[in-house]
Amino acid sequence: MPGFELWGEEEKKEVNDVLETGILMRYGFDGPRKSIWKSIELENEINKTFGSKYAQLTSSGTAALTTAMAALNIGVGDEVIMPSFTFVASFEAVLSVGAIPVLVDVDETLTLDPEAVRNALTPKTKCIMPVHMCGSMADLDALKTICDEHDLILLEDACQSIGAKYKGKYLGTIGHAGTFSFDFVKTITCAEGGVVMTNSEDVYLKADGYTDHGHDHKGVDRGADLHPFLGYNFRISELHAAVGLAQIRKLDTFLSIQQKNHTTLKDILAQIPEVSFRIIPEGGVDSCTFISWFLPTEELMKAFVAEMKAQGILAGNFYWYANNWHYIKQWQHLKEMKALNNLNEEQKVALAQLQDQDFSASDAIMGRCISTAISLLWTEEQIKEKGEKMVGVIRKVLSEANVIA
Ligand SMILES: *Cc1c(COP(=O)(O)O)cnc(C)c1O
Repeated sequence: MPGFELWGEEEKKEVNDVLETGILMRYGFDGPRKSIWKSIELENEINKTFGSKYAQLTSSGTAALTTAMAALNIGVGDEVIMPSFTFVASFEAVLSVGAIPVLVDVDETLTLDPEAVRNALTPKTKCIMPVHMCGSMADLDALKTICDEHDLILLEDACQSIGAKYKGKYLGTIGHAGTFSFDFVKTITCAEGGVVMTNSEDVYLKADGYTDHGHDHKGVDRGADLHPFLGYNFRISELHAAVGLAQIRKLDTFLSIQQKNHTTLKDILAQIPEVSFRIIPEGGVDSCTFISWFLPTEELMKAFVAEMKAQGILAGNFYWYANNWHYIKQWQHLKEMKALNNLNEEQKVALAQLQDQDFSASDAIMGRCISTAISLLWTEEQIKEKGEKMVGVIRKVLSEANVIA
């Protein structure tokens, strides 16, 4: 799954270019940097690789989401519809711009259920934010239709799905804006970093200024830049961008290894008729960072997890339902509004309602779902061994529950 598994000389070379000049900042110092511009190079490489018109690097994926929302004019009083299954960064970004996260159910795509999105629309809805979890995607055509009907913004959190495609286009390049994370465990890493991609020059220029204290970046003298609007510091450093540059050049390698390993493991698990797999929307191509699969009931999945743990082979299998990072059930700090600073009134009202909101439709999916991470380092034999052990545990659990003889 993560690019850090194939760390090598390429990354060291790119970082050394920066260390040679000592210019660690992405802006200015035109003379001493001796034409080394790793951040700009990486942004150009991102546009070339994924087909976006514009790319703005940031210090993290969370910062990329926050920046995208600010650039898309999402703020206080605006509702952002997002899924109940995601990484906490998605709602952190919504809250950080003063907007209201509206959490809705997921379906067997493990992403937004378009029907649940429709039911959550209000006059305050400003944005639909699908989160393409675990390498695959939401039904983007269905969500785009809703956005077009109601004049809403489509912002893709594609942080976990670098390299996956929908109807020929890379995830993250389909909505008004999209984001990737390059944190340490993502498909390509900068150690820490992220990007906002967009085809809108206006959104790009706003993201460019916002991530650097509102600088307009029009002149050659940074000190004389104008500040047409307020911003923050969400800049990436040249050292981080250098790592990303080496990594993005290996993306095709990462993806092809993932696809191969994914296919091998999936074929083994698919021997068992009681195992089913996450739905990939029509026209979608999974980036294959994980295999996400289901057993028929929550009880069976819990028994599988318990037995894998007992045998000491659970590592690399993520039971999100009981994991405190990725699913609404465990987000006590959000539901109890444990913010260090004061939230705005509309946010408080919305978060208070989360306590009683019915997520049984999501529970019914997530309770019987597990995601198995795909390593870039596995040998063919290791995958077969892993797969056969998993099949053994599944068969044991099914027979103990009298599902199979
Ligand atoms: C990793 C991740 C982020 C945030 O990225 P960071 O770079 O860690 O801040 C946002 N959304 C999702 C779905 C993620 O998995």
